[in-house]
Amino acid sequence: MKLFRAALLSLVLLLPPVVSAQQPAAGSEQTSARLAGEVLVNGRAMEYVRNLSDKFGGRVSGSAAYDRSAEWAAEQFRAAGIKDVRLEPFPLESTWARGRARARMTAPLERPLHLESLGWSPSTPAGGVRGEIYMLTDLSRDFIRRESGKIKGRVVLLDLAALLKDGYAAFTNLVAAQSLLKEAGAAAAVVGSADPNNVLNAFSLNWGARISPLPLAQLGMEDTTLIQRLLPQGAVTVEFQYENRTGGAAVDNNVVAEIRGREHPEEWIIVGAHLDSWDYGTGAQDNGAGCAMVLEAARAIAALGTPPRRSIRFALWGGEEQGLLGSAAYVRAHARELKDCVAALNTDNGAGHPRGWKVEGREDVQAAMTPISESLLAGLGGDGLSPELTFDTDHGHFLLAGVPALDLWVDMKHYDDIHHKPGDTLDKIAAHNLIAGAAVVAVTAHALAERPTRIAPQLKRDAVAGLLKKANLEEFLKAIGVWK
Ligand SMILES: [Zn+2]
Repeated sequence: MKLFRAALLSLVLLLPPVVSAQQPAAGSEQTSARLAGEVLVNGRAMEYVRNLSDKFGGRVSGSAAYDRSAEWAAEQFRAAGIKDVRLEPFPLESTWARGRARARMTAPLERPLHLESLGWSPSTPAGGVRGEIYMLTDLSRDFIRRESGKIKGRVVLLDLAALLKDGYAAFTNLVAAQSLLKEAGAAAAVVGSADPNNVLNAFSLNWGARISPLPLAQLGMEDTTLIQRLLPQGAVTVEFQYENRTGGAAVDNNVVAEIRGREHPEEWIIVGAHLDSWDYGTGAQDNGAGCAMVLEAARAIAALGTPPRRSIRFALWGGEEQGLLGSAAYVRAHARELKDCVAALNTDNGAGHPRGWKVEGREDVQAAMTPISESLLAGLGGDGLSPELTFDTDHGHFLLAGVPALDLWVDMKHYDDIHHKPGDTLDKIAAHNLIAGAAVVAVTAHALAERPTRIAPQLKRDAVAGLLKKANLEEFLKAIGVWK
């Protein structure tokens, strides 16, 4: 997901130095070495991501490509010798598939425009949209109401970078502004991209697979700045057309595989990554890489022959790009078992070299993870621990339930170059980075499942609220209805 990534990278909590904690159980280092060896030497991580990227391609929620990839993934878990593999359905409010757009400026000069539909936008009306540009600088209800005379029949241009400067909060204003613009009679709304060379990145401006109230599109950065330069000199007129395929309520599936624990089978670790992707590229790094790490960790742990003390569930989530829909549904469906969920691991930051884990603002988790990182992950370069707390991928709903959450921290130097873009393809993945990431996930999951005691306690609601407040997330989560 990471919809708000560009705007929100600043949310880091400063943590006091750690105290020494429990050393990993004797023998777990040997097992970890075997696991890492299995992944590094005999691994299938690259094969998994190649299939997801080049066999299924873009796996948009509700699409046939997504369904086929879910069936295939379930087969991979079974081929790894895991008996308990299932598809867990969850609802999608609507389905959507992109129709390619044709767009051009018609005045003051004639030229083609780099524009495509946003996700879950309705099609343009018959004959397309044609109108003068109106630049919207304020998302507030009063301002849009006051300006409705100027907005009516026009194409409203939104400068996202400027509008999103208030971080998460602005996102909720953006969602609300859509129906206000519809009411005001706007022909359509267009958001300017922040990426150079008129490269577009796919996303939707809704939390949930909901069709927007009016046509929404994204315009290339240079095209946007051209319009911003021309507007003070007079009217700018554009026209564009696209026919998306939208459908009503549907069902998507999470893919879940479980290795039952030998001593405490009722206690479980969950290791997840989202399987759905956007459609410009082939979803290689977002999030084929994460899925490959989860599949590979499952294969390597199953190959050990002896199950760990506690159970490990491996989950490939659907609906993440539409608002963490699959993992949210899972947390709801398994609410009664959550008290026995010892930790939720997530990987959704691409295939850069692993650096370690983000401990989502929890000092106690950082303290407890330190000996594991130092003794088991240093050789893989994954012994870093970051305090960063985010709610933009599938560890989010486990975190809200108080479960200790860990999000794989990787080198993201080049991630923005491909994130939701046409360049998110297999050729950008360096095998040794992906394989090292898979080894960090496998070794950590096994260590947490094998540990004599739980890594950390579950947090009560008020303690979770404290974390969210510190991270400036509470208002946003309330606004999107996930934190009451
Ligand atoms: Zn993602």
